[in-house]
Amino acid sequence: MPGRILVVDDVLLNVKLLEAKLASEYFDVITAMNGPDAIEVAKSKTPDIILLDVMMPGMDGFEVCRRLKTDPEVGHVPVIMVTALSDAADRVRGLEAGADDFLTKPVSDTALFARVRSLIRLKIMMDEWRLRESTSSQFGVTHGAVLPLIEDPRAATVLVVENNAIDGANIRDALATDSDEVVIVTSAEQGQQIALRREFDLVIVSTGLTDTDALRLSSYFRAQERTRQIPILLVAEEDETEKLAKSLDLGVNDYLIKPIDRNELLARVRTQIRRRRYQDRLRANFEMSLAMALTDSLTGIYNRRYLVSHLQALTGRAASTGKTIGVMMLDVDHFKLINDTYGHQVGDEVLREVAQRITHNVRNFDLVARYGGEEFVVVMPDTGPEIALMVAERLRGKMADVAFVVPSAKRDLNVTISIGVACAHSSNEQPAHLLQRADEALYSAKQQGRNRVVTSDLPPPPAAALGGASS
Ligand code: GH3
Ligand code: MG
Ligand code: MG
Repeated sequence: MPGRILVVDDVLLNVKLLEAKLASEYFDVITAMNGPDAIEVAKSKTPDIILLDVMMPGMDGFEVCRRLKTDPEVGHVPVIMVTALSDAADRVRGLEAGADDFLTKPVSDTALFARVRSLIRLKIMMDEWRLRESTSSQFGVTHGAVLPLIEDPRAATVLVVENNAIDGANIRDALATDSDEVVIVTSAEQGQQIALRREFDLVIVSTGLTDTDALRLSSYFRAQERTRQIPILLVAEEDETEKLAKSLDLGVNDYLIKPIDRNELLARVRTQIRRRRYQDRLRANFEMSLAMALTDSLTGIYNRRYLVSHLQALTGRAASTGKTIGVMMLDVDHFKLINDTYGHQVGDEVLREVAQRITHNVRNFDLVARYGGEEFVVVMPDTGPEIALMVAERLRGKMADVAFVVPSAKRDLNVTISIGVACAHSSNEQPAHLLQRADEALYSAKQQGRNRVVTSDLPPPPAAALGGASS
């Protein structure tokens, strides 16, 4: 897991010291010796993590951090503040400026590497979502710019696994500031059980638990599907440095040393919850972009882009398994007349109803897509010419036999469709060719008078079959 780290300190010796330590672990180190330079380098060299000195002449570390964190280009890069002071008030100030973590000088190797590795893991995950976000914006379905981290960290649901009653009460009081709902349990056993039943935004685990080791409980949460994504904050004793380093490697997100400073706890909890909610938003946004890129907004069924790529995959598979694929192309008859007579809005409602009737009358693994204005395509895997023809005939009947009830039209409408059918008969027929044959069959259905099915694979059905649609 190599990564690029920006080290910022006004004292050359400190820069060299950190640079040497990090380089020995194969990190790519870049440096800056004052605030304005740090911001410039962060923007031009895109580090994975920034190690930032607090005490610097001119612009101090808090100010640099605030500026970095409000910059849309680099705001997501984790910042570790390196401070000579180990005062809780300073840590709170840093967290409020948006710092992700703290290291106290002189920096111990164990603490440094554990923090850096844990934050790089977080950064990799964030980058993945940000990449997807920008990919989907290329499809023109999102706003383009990557979302800024502006989540509200309040009103969270927090599980506290702490057997010390005083510390438990302290945590509850601190989190009351944000109106968080706090559930306190006193054993790992209870913690495991409740986490399987309820959703939490954060879990706080004390290292003082007596029934199970806190690290074991944390690994358990990481391993379970339901709790895998929940941030974990460890509350530890002062002499547990080694354990804390190990816990970060196991996937614990952050820790706090007792005695609990309420402001520091609150600031750390907010950081975790804000991050978690940001990730949730990125994911939800991505899923929505995906849906928008692949479906048609009027009817909710798949769009042409999805159809074409899916058909490509299906014909590839069919070529290796020797199975046939049936394709139907459907077109509403005299649709222009419906628009001209009743208006575009009624036309839209008719299209929605057509899409519904198709979807409800094919198998659920058949693919239904809107191909163009009033053209639809159904792809039926593992389907030969006779079955395809039968399904097409059934669909034709489902439209023609039951009038369309469209609320905004004054009366019920009689809507018919014409259908062209084609089945991939040679194992290596290209999707475009298959669609073209279906389209030609559709054209001849229109030529023959509409409201009928024509297949590209078999001789036309006897005229009698037309009236005898199965339903
Ligand atoms: P045919 O029986 O030969 O298919 O005749 P038609 O009138 O259905 O075919 P034509 O291709 O001449 O007209 C299709 C019309 O569909 C023209 C277009 O304005 C309309 N249309 C395309 N997309 C939409 C849409 O999303 N909503 C509505 N209301 N109309 C649409
Ligand atoms: Mg038409
Ligand atoms: Mg048409």
